[in-house]
Amino acid sequence: MGQTLIIGASRGIGLEFVRQCRAAGDQVVATARSEAGLALLQAEGATALKLDVASTAGASGLAWQIDGHQFDLIVINAGVFGPRTSGLQTPTEADFDLVMHTNVLGAMRVIPQLTDALAPGARLALISSTMASIGGRDNNSGWLYRASKAALNSVLKDTATALRERAICISLSPGWVRTDMGGEDAEIDVQTSVAGMLRLLAGLTPADNACFFDYNGQPLPW
Ligand code: NDP
Repeated sequence: MGQTLIIGASRGIGLEFVRQCRAAGDQVVATARSEAGLALLQAEGATALKLDVASTAGASGLAWQIDGHQFDLIVINAGVFGPRTSGLQTPTEADFDLVMHTNVLGAMRVIPQLTDALAPGARLALISSTMASIGGRDNNSGWLYRASKAALNSVLKDTATALRERAICISLSPGWVRTDMGGEDAEIDVQTSVAGMLRLLAGLTPADNACFFDYNGQPLPW
């Protein structure tokens, strides 16, 4: 039982984090950018905060909104896939801006707002993807998405260095999960993915800081 903050929790993996953390007795603060998302989070028993990570103005008020909290677990989950391309198709500027603003700049906006709200020994997870892995690449679909999640992994490395005295920070792949993003043919359901990630997060030690894991606890190549 502890305090948990989930960034981007209106559906899919983020919403399942809220549900499983609430079921475990956690006090949960969670963010959404739509009124429907906020209402859903309240119905789950979470404290709901409005946040669009792609908006400078939206993220700038987060620190005072969570003032007084000491989170044991923070998950930055908000993300978009962008164009479903295969091969080397140059993205439009609009697609580039959307995917990079959400997946990379979003985390860089949110993380500095969180530093005073970390309980001693807190866990901070950035939801990345196996598609981020440069060392483990086996195809080139989703060129822009891969680049954004590889950049997010770089953000994690520097975050983990800066916060190493205060938190254990990791990059985390949820697996290929049946959500709006993952699609119906994905390998696992959200319950399995989130249960695996929470199990991993509960068992982390300081030696795991700045590492990249799959939902089932396997280390992934950067
Ligand atoms: P979904 O598309 O189902 O959900 C995405 C979530 O991100 C929604 O809650 C959405 O909110 C939120 N979001 C998107 N843009 C913003 C924004 N600008 N500000 C705030 N919130 C935003 O995706 P998943 O649940 O599948 O994915 C969650 C994370 O897991 C993502 O980071 C994704 O890249 C990653 N991932 C998913 C995989 C999968 O197989 N599903 C595989 C690997 C990684 P809203 O409802 O308002 O749109």
